[in-house]
Amino acid sequence: MAKRGGLECNALNTTIGGRLLKPANTAAICHSNQPTYHLELCKTTLWTNASTYADHPLGIMNPNWSEDSCLPGPQYPCSSAGFPLYVINATCSGDVAKGVSFAREHNVRLNVKGSGHDYLGRSTAPNSLSIWTKHVRSIEFHDAFQRKQCSACDVLPAVTLGAGEDWDEIYAAANQRNRTLVGRTGDTIGLGGYLTGGGHSHLSAMYGLAADQVLKMDMVLADGEMVTANEAKNMELFWAMRGESGIMGYSYVAPAYPYNGTLVGGYIGGLPIPNGTVERLKEAVAFLEDYITTIPDVRTLFVPVQYLGLYAWYLVDKNVGPIGKSNAIGNRLLDRKALSNFTALRAAMKKATPSGSISNLTLVARSRL
Ligand SMILES: Cc1cc2nc3c(=O)[nH]c(=O)nc-3n(C[C@H](O)[C@H](O)[C@H](O)COP(=O)(O)OP(=O)(O)OC[C@H]3O[C@@H](n4cnc5c(N)ncnc54)[C@H](O)[C@@H]3O)c2cc1C
Repeated sequence: MAKRGGLECNALNTTIGGRLLKPANTAAICHSNQPTYHLELCKTTLWTNASTYADHPLGIMNPNWSEDSCLPGPQYPCSSAGFPLYVINATCSGDVAKGVSFAREHNVRLNVKGSGHDYLGRSTAPNSLSIWTKHVRSIEFHDAFQRKQCSACDVLPAVTLGAGEDWDEIYAAANQRNRTLVGRTGDTIGLGGYLTGGGHSHLSAMYGLAADQVLKMDMVLADGEMVTANEAKNMELFWAMRGESGIMGYSYVAPAYPYNGTLVGGYIGGLPIPNGTVERLKEAVAFLEDYITTIPDVRTLFVPVQYLGLYAWYLVDKNVGPIGKSNAIGNRLLDRKALSNFTALRAAMKKATPSGSISNLTLVARSRL
């Protein structure tokens, strides 16, 4: 790819409206030998925060898959080896199709990245052309979506989502319509990896996996052709994508279930707590348990989790931000009224974090609609 970086890449950049990036690595800001070096930014970046990686064109959460070739600590090496060379910041199916075709025609290794959350490093590849789906956005609700392309098929409320659509916005839009859907708990996840991996949700006990919800997909095949797949058309592709596939999906349709706002199943995630203790944390969030037990049929359990596997490496050079600033408290744990009191929720979290090092708190509650 490097040797092909001249005229051909310029041509690709033109055909995709200037959306071809040649980004520096996420952690290059920490290294004085890198053009994007910015020590202050390096210090204030939340290196344990999933969105740091989801929001960056080359960001991956598990750097071992890029051979640790650029790590946040200035004392560690940093080079672009191990990462894609160019990134298409895709916003629509056309960008995706042109990227797939370019890679095929020029025999370039192709990579696809949504959030970069993949635990097995499948969203990064050295010297590749990467298609970044985070900005393929769209939310379109259908009051009566026709399930199959035939005349005597059932219709149901549904939603069409772009592969990189933001989950907070999806849930907010669904809430406005008194609907919900089988979706993520982690707000930075992209639909591509989530659905091809099965897709666990708070509502899975009730409705099943997210992959099983999909009614229709628009995708780009390896030859660059854009096709639609559902239960009646391109069925092999449809069933393959609902399990596992390397095909590039950019738009998905799923049912939108009724939701009356009384609330349910829950999770609080991504709460790095510097130098705290499990006991202090439990004490500070006890009010949540008291509150939740007043909701019929909902049981709760606090599970403090220490990510000393995946994140241990980063904790050496940690740069953990203040609770309640960039780390929001979970969204389907409490009802709308309680969740709207951010000041009180933040105050509770801060109370638990004078100093110390717990990394994550999970609250599990039984789901009920
Ligand atoms: C903080 C966090 C929270 C999580 N929460 C949940 C959860 O609540 N429920 C759950 O089930 N899982 C959860 N996961 C796991 C998550 O679903 C997987 O890591 C998933 O692979 C992420 O998908 P992605 O596309 O964002 O990731 P990426 O790492 O960008 O991609 C993962 C794989 O999918 C491929 N891919 C990405 N986009 C597309 C596309 N549009 N078409 C085809 N292939 C594509 C990539 O090439 C790669 O092989 C969580 C993970 C993290 C890190």
